[in-house]
Parts: sequence; C-alpha cells; structure tokens
Amino acid sequence: MKSPDPRTFEVKSFGCQMNVYDGERMAELLEAEGLSAAADGEEADLVVLNTCHIRERAAEKVYSDIGRLMKRDTTPMIAVAGCVAQAEGAEIPRRAPGVDIVVGPQAYHNLPELVRQASRGERALDTAMPPLSKFGALPARRKQGPSAFLTVQEGCDKFCTYCVVPYTRGAEVSRPFGAIVDEAKALVDAGAREITLLGQNVNGWRDGDGRGLEALIVALDAIPGLARIRYTTSHPNDMTEGLIRAHSEVEKLMPYLHLPVQSGSNRVLKAMNRSHTTDSYLRILETVRAARSDIALSGDFIVGFPGETEAEFEETLRIVEAVNYAQAFSFKYSPRPGTPASNMEDQIAPEVMDERLQRLQALLGAQQHAFNQASVGKRTAVLLERPGRKPGQLIGKSPWLQSVHLETDAAIGDLVEVELLSAGPNSLAGAELMKVAA
Ligand code: SAM
Ligand code: SF4
Repeated sequence: MKSPDPRTFEVKSFGCQMNVYDGERMAELLEAEGLSAAADGEEADLVVLNTCHIRERAAEKVYSDIGRLMKRDTTPMIAVAGCVAQAEGAEIPRRAPGVDIVVGPQAYHNLPELVRQASRGERALDTAMPPLSKFGALPARRKQGPSAFLTVQEGCDKFCTYCVVPYTRGAEVSRPFGAIVDEAKALVDAGAREITLLGQNVNGWRDGDGRGLEALIVALDAIPGLARIRYTTSHPNDMTEGLIRAHSEVEKLMPYLHLPVQSGSNRVLKAMNRSHTTDSYLRILETVRAARSDIALSGDFIVGFPGETEAEFEETLRIVEAVNYAQAFSFKYSPRPGTPASNMEDQIAPEVMDERLQRLQALLGAQQHAFNQASVGKRTAVLLERPGRKPGQLIGKSPWLQSVHLETDAAIGDLVEVELLSAGPNSLAGAELMKVAA
C-alpha cells in the first residue's frame, strides 16, 4: 500500500556538500508546504533520495535504497532527486516502478507541485535545467546548526574527461553577490557561526562586475556574529592572487584549502583534461603557503585512470610527498556513462586499482596523522558542533578542519579556546581553557 498524501518526510542526501545544501533546501521547502520532518526511527510518508552520480557505487546505492523502501508495510512516496535523477531521468521509474517522483538538481524548487502530482497518482518528472531559477523560488533559511553551507556557484565548464558533473549539474553559473550576502546574513540570524561557500569550482565564482570569490569573503567578514568562513571545492586554474591574498588578510577565513590535483603525472593530467601541470599546482601551493604559513592543505586523487602506468602512479606518490597534505580524498577511477574517459582504451584492472589505492591511502593517512600530531600542544579556537559519544563530551572543529573532542560545559555553537592534548589519525582530544567572546 502507498501513502497517498504525505504528512511527514525524510531527505536522505548522498555525495558532495552541494547535495547536503540541496537536501537542506528541499527540507525547508517541504516544511513551508506544511509537511514535517519524520522523527528519528519513524517511517516517513515521503522519502527523498538525493543522489550522487560521481562514481558507479554511489549511483547504484539509490536502487538498493528503493528496494528497501518498497519492502515497508506502507510504502512511502519515493522521490529520486540529485545527479542520478538528472542523468537517468525517466529510466529510473522504468527500472524501479515504485518511484513516484524524479527531480533534477536545478528543478527541486518544483518539488511541492511534483508531490501534488504524485498524490493524484500521476508519475512526476522534472529534469529541466533553468540556471539559478530555483534560488529565487526557495523559502527563507532556517536553523541548520553552527556550521552552514551556502551554494554560490553551480555547474562546471571544465569537462575533465572522467567527470559527470558538467552533464548532471549543467553549465557553470555564479549566483548574484547580493543574493549570497543576504542568504549568509539569514544563516547567521538563524544561528550559523561558520559558513562554507560551496561550488563545484567555487573559486571560479565571478559577478557581473568581474569581482571574484575574495570579494564575497570580504563581504561575509563584515557580518557581525559570523566567526568563520571556508570555501570548497577549488580548481587550481581559478586560484587567483586576490583569493590567495585573502588568506593573509581576512582573519575569519580559515587556514584550510581543498585543492584537488587528481594525479602526479603530467601525461595523465593532460588525458584528464585538467589543464594544470604538477609544476603549476606546486607553484600555487607555494604562494598559498607564503600567504598563510600554517594552512592545512587537502586534495582529491584518482588512481587507475585509463592508461595509468605503475611509473605514473608513483609520480602521484611523489607529489603527495612533495605537498605533505593535512587531509585528502582518494578514489578508484570509475567509468561514467557518456564521459570521454569511459571509452578510452587501457582501462585498468580492478585489482591493480585496489593495490594503488591502498598504497596512496597509507601515505595520505600517515601524513594526516603526522599533521594532527604536530598540532598537539597548540592552543586554538574550536567551534563546537555536535555531541560526542561520552556524557559531557562535545565535538568541534579546529581552524584546520580537524575534529576535536573535549569535555565541556559549553554549548553547541560556542567557540572555545582549547589546548590540544593528543592526536589520532582522524581526530584530536583537547582541554577547554575558556569560552571565546562572540
Ligand atoms: N570540481 C572539483 C575539482 O575539480 O576538483 C571536484 C568535484 S567532484 C564532485 C569530487 C571528486 O570526485 C573529484 O575531485 C575527483 O577526484 C572525484 N571523481 C570525479 N569523477 C570521478 C570518477 N569518474 N571516478 C573516480 N573519482 C571521480
Ligand atoms: Fe568534474 Fe573537473 Fe568540473 Fe571538477 S572541474 S566538477 S572534476 S569536470
């Protein structure tokens, strides 16, 4: 039996932070329509699966989730949103007939109307890609916790040969300056103390007057009550002097930069259409470190891109050694339908990819652990974000995006001065010294 007229909902987001942002906005939309979020453990009448298409395993998750939902006594209304919805469209209900709604990442402002259509028993599909029109149609921001995401730029024109983003998220567009600053103020009014500006190439953000991301960062810096600014994900080619300078000039801008290189081999980078070289990447990082010596560097890596030789993979290990990352994300290459790399010859065997990924992750893990250990003894501010496992324990973030656990009487959302006492591979423990004034 299907739930015909949903009163409760659950939005389940997979993949990148932009999906987390979209998921929050869909929840706000549904609440504005009078639906309420299902309580923990309660089965929602409407389940929105906000999907990711970046790698095959991520994309397949949606079908196993739909299978699980279909086994409930009362089957919920099922909406598939996100990048799988955009890429597969009407194919989804053909493959999984229990799906009622398919909505792409640029069309989710129409979700309430699609729910009404589905309630009438119609199959509802919207994968139109009108750039930015969703933002004007979304309700006001509400409380999201101390750390909030804010999408400033959508889509991508870079067309790396392995990547589906330009096809699922469309062309690169920047939201207007004023709309972003207004949303940032609304987030701060709703309790946010940290804002992370988001975009597939967030540092490619430009407005009509030619201003770059640093202008937005400076505008956010002036918002009273906002303590921290971050941005992600950046492309090496859009790392401008002005943005790098902001790291030395804007106090609220946190000392953390996620700048994916993907490979340490110039031949592979060219085949990936990355349009930077290992040298140009390393030069950028040198300038960034000169602007902000304590900056934590992070990156993304793909192992096993078609044709990658053992020697080319070892060049990736060399660039990791040269950079010394504080954190990183590494993936096995996954052929994505419709991308040029999926048709390239010399696809790498899965067991070779597994072995390379293990070696790369061992090196990156050791660097992350060493970075954490080097922080022990420092006094620093921690923004408290969520409860820990033990009573009286809260978990927060250091300026370098490390998770810090501490016993404290302070509240979630407080900034506390902490001495870092010990470090593991993924987190640190600290002792509170005092609360930092707002
Ligand atoms: N725009 C960002 C950039 O270019 O650095 C990254 C966006 S993408 C959502 C996040 C990461 O997923 C990429 O940096 C890349 O490492 C990884 N990725 C993208 N396509 C992939 C694929 N086909 N197989 C494996 N990893 C992939
Ligand atoms: Fe994908 Fe490349 Fe665009 Fe990043 S820059 S979203 S990896 S196409």
